[in-house]
Amino acid sequence: MTESREFCPNCGDPLSVDTTERDYPASASRRERKLCDACYFDRFDLVDAPERIEVRVCAQCGAVYRGRRWVDIGARDYTDVAIEEVSESLGVHVDAEDVSWQVEPEQVDQNTIRMHCYFSGVVRGTLVEEELVVPVRISRQTCTRCGRIAGDYYASIVQVRGVDRTPTPEEEQRAREIANEIVADMEATGDRNAFVTEMDETPDGLNIKVSTNNIGKKISNKLVEEFGGNVSDSETLVTEDEDGNEVYRVTYAVRLPPFTPGDIIDPDDDGGPVLVRSVRGNLKGRRITTGEEYEAQFEDGHAPDTRKLGTVEDGQETTLVTVEDEHAVQVLDPETFRTKTIARPSYMDEDAETVPVFKSRTGLYVVPDA
Ligand SMILES: [Zn+2]
Ligand SMILES: [Zn+2]
Repeated sequence: MTESREFCPNCGDPLSVDTTERDYPASASRRERKLCDACYFDRFDLVDAPERIEVRVCAQCGAVYRGRRWVDIGARDYTDVAIEEVSESLGVHVDAEDVSWQVEPEQVDQNTIRMHCYFSGVVRGTLVEEELVVPVRISRQTCTRCGRIAGDYYASIVQVRGVDRTPTPEEEQRAREIANEIVADMEATGDRNAFVTEMDETPDGLNIKVSTNNIGKKISNKLVEEFGGNVSDSETLVTEDEDGNEVYRVTYAVRLPPFTPGDIIDPDDDGGPVLVRSVRGNLKGRRITTGEEYEAQFEDGHAPDTRKLGTVEDGQETTLVTVEDEHAVQVLDPETFRTKTIARPSYMDEDAETVPVFKSRTGLYVVPDA
């Protein structure tokens, strides 16, 4: 009968019964299990740590390079970022149990942090402690997005134009708001590639340069949704990307309708002028002679033979002298102060002492109260 004993493969010492029968974590390697305690601890490192860590941050926007991309973290103080990066890079030996640890940053200068790391754990029934220092270097760079913004990069242009007119200041103001809102919404979902490069006033209207085609499309669709009109797009090949794919810049030409709500127009159909209420889809409003509803289609965005006479804001308050009948009233002409008989629209309040009137070369009209 031979006594079965096991020996340390490193030094040849017989292993104690205690060592061979101990419960190890399943992950411990077979060879490590066989070593005597002296040899085992001789080569044991509780913590595996990198010699140094570089944290790349964007000096412009504060984003941090993580994994293989830039991430917004909304921090100006990079100590927390350094702690996080170091913690993630530290590996604790699989044999260790009851591990506890802490890291303490020591700010050396603006770009250098010494991270003091303290670890303890139980290995082979023994409490093991380890202390180490990982130097962290904060490297200030420019992220892809800030580099593009600085380089006036854009992928798409929205041209805000009007048919037979230039856009109103209100329309341009709203176009700017829409562009900023859409980009803000996309940024809020973590899209780092969304930005407005430039908004540029031209004699024909506003040009909005944006970072992606998708943003250009969203802005132009929203403008048409709010103001009517239509949009067309055209592509221009600008370059090829690193993979040889063709890169197109898309121009979205938004054509706002020839009229805006509040305009007083003459459709030249003997029915009298119309106060425009809506221009989305088709043209809607009411006659300022009778108060009747008016509706017409734009043809290719245009309204042929229709002239703009003014806007409802041009109306002046004047004295209502008398209501003649269902179709006629007498008012004072606000310029000559002479009594004039004009059409009585259905929306006019017959008990009013004064009414707003609009005067143009085609005549004098009672308009609705503004
Ligand atoms: Zn040994
Ligand atoms: Zn940046």
